[in-house]
Amino acid sequence: MTASAKRNSTAEWQAQDRKHLHPFTDHAELGRIGAKVITKAEGTYLFDSDGNKILDAFAGLWCVNIGYGRKSIADVAHAQLLELPYYNTFFKTTHPPVAELSKLLVEMTPKQFNHVFYGLSGSDANDTIVRMVRTYWNLKKQPKKKTIISRWNGYHGSTMVAASLGGMNYMHELADLPLPGHAHIKQPYWYGDGGSQTPEEFGLAAAKLLEDKILELGAENVAAFIGEPIQGAGGVIIPPSTYWPEVQKICKKYDLLLIADEVICGFGRTGYMFASEPFQIEADFMTLAKGLTSGYMPLSAIMVADRVAEVLNSFGDFNHGFTYSGHPVSCAVAIENIRIIREEKMVETAHDETGPYLAKRLEEFKDHPLVGEVRSMGLVGAIELVKDKKTHKTFEPVGKVGTICRDHCVKNNLIMRATRDTMLLSPPLMWTKGHIDEFMKLAKIALDATAKDVGL
Ligand SMILES: *Cc1c(COP(=O)(O)O)cnc(C)c1O
Repeated sequence: MTASAKRNSTAEWQAQDRKHLHPFTDHAELGRIGAKVITKAEGTYLFDSDGNKILDAFAGLWCVNIGYGRKSIADVAHAQLLELPYYNTFFKTTHPPVAELSKLLVEMTPKQFNHVFYGLSGSDANDTIVRMVRTYWNLKKQPKKKTIISRWNGYHGSTMVAASLGGMNYMHELADLPLPGHAHIKQPYWYGDGGSQTPEEFGLAAAKLLEDKILELGAENVAAFIGEPIQGAGGVIIPPSTYWPEVQKICKKYDLLLIADEVICGFGRTGYMFASEPFQIEADFMTLAKGLTSGYMPLSAIMVADRVAEVLNSFGDFNHGFTYSGHPVSCAVAIENIRIIREEKMVETAHDETGPYLAKRLEEFKDHPLVGEVRSMGLVGAIELVKDKKTHKTFEPVGKVGTICRDHCVKNNLIMRATRDTMLLSPPLMWTKGHIDEFMKLAKIALDATAKDVGL
């Protein structure tokens, strides 16, 4: 038992927590059943206040790439807290951790990126990018170019701007979003929308929707396109190989800036350090967060391409920034996190070994009566639950079966997330084949129990 678990009990923590507001939580339900209290984590396991050991197949929220409990990260953070716990990077100031991390990120990212700006979350990073995009077109004397196109079911964060970029209806409904200057097109979701088209044909058709939207709005009014190389929260939507090269072409043709939101994909998730590589995306901005520190400290980074930075730098002060932009402890932690990812060859392992093994084992679920499709790339994947495997017909109401399945996972001490009726998987990159075997066993129990509940 940890020190904190001795101090208090589950019921006491739940009572203290019950009235408070939580992200993405139904508060009536929270009030009724109380929160799950996580007290400790080690490797890929979470421990709750009742002593359960839980397999985290979701790496926290897509972020704990190196796994929990890394002592060297704690040591680096401790040393940094003693040496320089805080100083800002405003007004022509810097400090060693931020300077060293910038050098590292420039070395690691695609060649057009030689400039970094820091924030504390993926949301504020995307917010900042929108500000940079607007500044860019103002300086280019094309002030009408303001609208940003993104995809339905995309996720780019929770600030007003980031949620507007995102395509989640249930987020838009809450606060009269999207803000003006945002437009959305359909996602490249072949299994759901492809019909009789091959993935390659469908990828081109999905990219063409961008061109249609640009022509509808007038290219002189469109500033940029933003997308996640693989859509994460929207259901691990892996686009056909034809999609991104075509999007790239369209952005060039109509003079749009291209933003690759690599918040989930970055730092090895797909079996590549960044997913821009396999999908052949040459972006003007890249958003990084989550795996940048493996969630040990909050930090985000925006990679800005040379052609954009040159324009932005032609102006005087860039009057924008956060007190904690480039926080020294976060930057020191990011450097150590990247060292671990590289030294333990996590990207190579996800690419050559665990990624292909996961893909092969997931295929076994295709025979399951509930499962319509499985898909994965590296260590991010999805198991899509459908009512009719032949027609891809979904259950009604959408989301109910996903929730049932997720609850069965929780009951069996497995964390998977559900988007609509798709079960999502994004484990720490330190997973071995043994962890994948353990996952398969627990996931099958949950799938079988769900099938029984819905009478399949
Ligand atoms: C999580 C996420 C964000 C938002 O990051 P926060 O740190 O939660 O603000 C942005 N984009 C993508 C693709 C994400 O998955």
